[in-house]
Amino acid sequence: MTDKTILAAVEAEYERRRTADREEETRRLRKAVDECPEIAELRAVQQSLVRAAVQAVLHEGDSARVSREMAETRDKIAALLEANGHPRDWLEPVYQCAVCRDTGFTWDPPRVPCACRSLLQRRIALSTVGIQTDGETFVGYRTDIFPDDQVIPGLNVTQRAEMRLVRDRLAAWTAAAPAEGQHTVLLQGPSGLGKTYLLRCIANAFAERGIPCVLTRAYALVEAARKRVFSENDAEWEAFLGADILLIDDLGSEPLFQNITIEHLYELIETRQLAGRTTVVSTNLSQDDLRARYTERIASRLTARSSCLIVSLSGEDVRRRR
Ligand SMILES: [Zn+2]
Repeated sequence: MTDKTILAAVEAEYERRRTADREEETRRLRKAVDECPEIAELRAVQQSLVRAAVQAVLHEGDSARVSREMAETRDKIAALLEANGHPRDWLEPVYQCAVCRDTGFTWDPPRVPCACRSLLQRRIALSTVGIQTDGETFVGYRTDIFPDDQVIPGLNVTQRAEMRLVRDRLAAWTAAAPAEGQHTVLLQGPSGLGKTYLLRCIANAFAERGIPCVLTRAYALVEAARKRVFSENDAEWEAFLGADILLIDDLGSEPLFQNITIEHLYELIETRQLAGRTTVVSTNLSQDDLRARYTERIASRLTARSSCLIVSLSGEDVRRRR
């Protein structure tokens, strides 16, 4: 996607949101009047009071009386809505973003792009590279697929018990994130232990809290870096740099392009850490492998005890077992 098509998609999305807002207002009004016809009468009173207010200003009428009656009418409607189990402001204008009223800009002069706009822009830039999740949750995470019959050599627990600990640790970290301290998470272990599944649990847990996050594969990162270098299209790359929460699956599976992969990976991790953004990386590589493949400076950024949470998985491939 070029920057221009992203901008067009952003405008189209705001247009769609505004239409949806108006439709929702109409739906609410219909339902409210259906449940309580008196609301229709009060809405008519409101409209005549608006006309009266204009007249009062033009002809020096009793504007104090008109505004008192307006407030009374609004209160009556609110009480009726409440009696029917709705919030008191249920018939007020609907916006998904109250700050910009779904225009994408705030107008407390000068015109400034709203915070929701950059989020939307990033999300659209990434829509071509994001991975769809399938509703995976920590609660639904099944540890009974892991063997419970022998302890893992070197650890004093069975694989099932270990996976339970891992799940609880990641769930607790996610619930507290983004928090001070450990902004980078390294989830490492051999393949077949469910790392991708855990990443999706994290992504869905953030999504449930309304925190946008980007889940991608290391391969897509390198593709975005190549587009930046060869096509001078850096929309995707900038989106990865700027995402508040970025989850990278399967670091180490991407191709190592000379002067691209390692340089970009370092820029990505360094920029995100300096900005305090949250990055979660899953990899089959050990810490020694990371050093050998990506250089010491990248490996140490991913494994520094002060800023990174390292979660190691061990045990046997459950896919082979089934
Ligand atoms: Zn907004």
